[in-house]
Amino acid sequence: MDLKSGLPWWLIKDGLMTNFNILQKNIETEIVIIGSGITGALAAHFLCEAGAKCIVVDKRMSSTGSTAASTAQLQYEIDVFLHELSDQIGTENAVKSYSLCLKSISTLKQIISKLKLDCSFEMKPSLQLAANKQGTKKLKLEYEFRKKHKLPIEFLDKKTLKKQFGIDRDSAIYTDTSAQVDAYMLCRLLLDHHKKKSGLEVYSYTEIVNVNHKKDGIRLLTDRGHEIKAKKMVCSPGYESEFFLKEKVMKLNSTYVFISKPVLKNLWPESCMIWETARPYLYIRTSTDNRVIVGGEDEAFLNPESRDRKMGQKNKTILRKFKKLFPEIDLEIDFHWCGVFGETKDGLPYIGVHPEHPNTYFALGYGGNGITFSVIAAEIIRDLYVGKPSGNEKIFAFGR
Ligand SMILES: Cc1cc2nc3c(=O)[nH]c(=O)nc-3n(C[C@H](O)[C@H](O)[C@H](O)COP(=O)(O)OP(=O)(O)OC[C@H]3O[C@@H](n4cnc5c(N)ncnc54)[C@H](O)[C@@H]3O)c2cc1C
Repeated sequence: MDLKSGLPWWLIKDGLMTNFNILQKNIETEIVIIGSGITGALAAHFLCEAGAKCIVVDKRMSSTGSTAASTAQLQYEIDVFLHELSDQIGTENAVKSYSLCLKSISTLKQIISKLKLDCSFEMKPSLQLAANKQGTKKLKLEYEFRKKHKLPIEFLDKKTLKKQFGIDRDSAIYTDTSAQVDAYMLCRLLLDHHKKKSGLEVYSYTEIVNVNHKKDGIRLLTDRGHEIKAKKMVCSPGYESEFFLKEKVMKLNSTYVFISKPVLKNLWPESCMIWETARPYLYIRTSTDNRVIVGGEDEAFLNPESRDRKMGQKNKTILRKFKKLFPEIDLEIDFHWCGVFGETKDGLPYIGVHPEHPNTYFALGYGGNGITFSVIAAEIIRDLYVGKPSGNEKIFAFGR
């Protein structure tokens, strides 16, 4: 599948990774990880730290799938409000999901700081704006619900929002636990670190075209006809999971993004991340060189051609919506791109084992918060592998 088009900023900002290998022989390992996006890279990190011998294979150049297109806003709130998720999966699991997302941001922060990964990670507050009166009603409910369950949140009424942020909307919720990162760079550095320190092998342009389950593990066939023999497989192929998993667990959408030229004045207070109660929502963040990244206008994915044809028009709409929010900020679009993302029925990822796929751990972090799900998936898979499951995998199980 053509996962993205246009020019994702992250791929050109620091240049492409050029030191890649292509698998050109049969190989044996303990764990083979499919996909070198943020999910595969984090799984490799946790498994290498646990002492497992791993290899990562990717059919593209390393980490240039959806991760390279991501705006990489890390928020603990998922696309489904906690009070609504609670109706769908029960309060205990819903609160646990939100708490795990919250924890995943500090886990990521710790990894980045411990390994000294220079990937533009910054803690940033996040503001979710009410789109209308109905939005305010939902935000108030959400505020009460999260307060009750001791999750960080503040409610801003119209007057406070205008005074503190200069934004003219009915209300908002504010959290100071979010972060933003360059996800492509994070992947590159994480994989490089473990190549040097843990003997991790990473193979680009190596597509898995066949999977055979054996009593003692798994055999994978690559597009060049080489065999990978492993005890376990971590399946983290992003939105191209249909080859590995027959069950349909997600719906694909297209989303559109641009990054502006650097803005030569102060942006809004705290240059916090912004999103909305509207569906689809506008999402806004900044870069370390004072550019503004704005995305949105999501719609159901039909095919790459129809998605790409709409890019120009979608940019105009996104720019117009931004202008309405911040009339005093003039943005000039520098680069723009679009990408695919997946959505599940409850906004939660699918993580862990599947009865029809022995020796396989799935890490399918679908949703607007895919990256926090990648952290959760990687930890769960490490725990399953070392035989100390936390029980968290039950929340994200297939057939839930
Ligand atoms: C425009 C956009 C904005 C987004 N914004 C955010 C955001 O703000 N916050 C957030 O948390 N998430 C966001 N997301 C979602 C997030 O980017 C994804 O959840 C995340 O990047 C998925 O990572 P991944 O490693 O699972 O998939 P990928 O990065 O796609 O990696 C999977 C890899 O598997 C490889 N692969 C697939 N099949 C095979 C095969 N058969 N053999 C070998 N290799 C294979 C692919 O080549 C690919 O490189 C956004 C997504 C998009 C597109």
